[in-house]
Amino acid sequence: MKRRQRLSVGAYVEGVLKGDRVILSQAITLMESSLESDQLLGDEVMDAVLSHTGNSMRIGITGVPGVGKSTFIEQFGLLLIDKGYKVAVLAIDPSSQSSRGSILGDKTRMELLSMDPRAYIRPSPAGNTLGGVSAKTREGMLLCEAAGFDVILIETVGVGQSEIAVSGMVDFFLLLMLAGAGDELQGIKKGIIEMCDALVVNKADGENVDEAKKAKRVYSNALHLFPQKESGWSPKVLTCSGLSGDGLEKIWESVSQYKELVESNGYFERNRAKQRLNWMNEHVKYLLETVFYKNDQVQSLLEASFQDVKSGKMSAIKLARKLVNLFINQEIKDEK
Ligand code: GDP
Repeated sequence: MKRRQRLSVGAYVEGVLKGDRVILSQAITLMESSLESDQLLGDEVMDAVLSHTGNSMRIGITGVPGVGKSTFIEQFGLLLIDKGYKVAVLAIDPSSQSSRGSILGDKTRMELLSMDPRAYIRPSPAGNTLGGVSAKTREGMLLCEAAGFDVILIETVGVGQSEIAVSGMVDFFLLLMLAGAGDELQGIKKGIIEMCDALVVNKADGENVDEAKKAKRVYSNALHLFPQKESGWSPKVLTCSGLSGDGLEKIWESVSQYKELVESNGYFERNRAKQRLNWMNEHVKYLLETVFYKNDQVQSLLEASFQDVKSGKMSAIKLARKLVNLFINQEIKDEK
């Protein structure tokens, strides 16, 4: 495949800061690249836009497939636009390794929102690792902020580990649920419920309204059993219909109340500071892993010995240590 022409750092930065959507997309693609030359260019772009980031409300939205996430995000996004905000949606699809993910492959998803000039929608590749999810999505989020978006909605499919990564980069985490199905049925892990700042029973419309209200009571009772959150916020249980738009205003009210609380008690900035440090730590792991597996000697020892580990002839931890020692020794030799 022919490599795309890259822009200069200055051109990316200028384009992003101007809110040029084409350049914003190109900058995100650059960040997602696994080529080292792209990554180095990307590092510089990130460095230059960093002081223009941080000014959005970052909201993670999750729920099992079919719960109504895209319908919800479209209506919620339109509501926010109506209030005068610029809205970016980043969607992580764990089933896809490419930016042409199936999560947004269907053109009809969020059709109205995607046509609105005040909105920007971008699928984010999940990558091979959890580190991959955070690295790429976080960088995409920051670029969107630099481009002037005030609310960033990060969508994940609530069945896997990507929620944990996403909760580590957002300010507010929203879980969509359905009435009439147990948690087990919905495949939602307790840990994910524990992370959420709002649990919203979706599709509360038509004949479903009573069931949704009942589910709201059950979830409210269940949430009382969870320990107090460090933010000082008591997670809200709400109902809504992404289809009709009922209840969406209340959800935004909750987000705003949350923001007010955590800004006044200092948690907002404390949490962001912690997240920035985690970002650095994750990136160290990501970079180390990348150079490690690219190392020739590591590759040949791995090739020669991985079968022994597979068959149980050699201990896994022994080979791991051997590989790391080999890598370190070689790096030291290269330094000299
Ligand atoms: P996702 O897989 O979580 O993104 O879910 P979708 O937004 O694609 O919705 C899945 C299905 O549920 C679609 O057929 C929607 O029309 C339907 N749906 C979504 N939101 C609502 C809602 O609020 N009420 C009702 N009754 N149906 C909905």
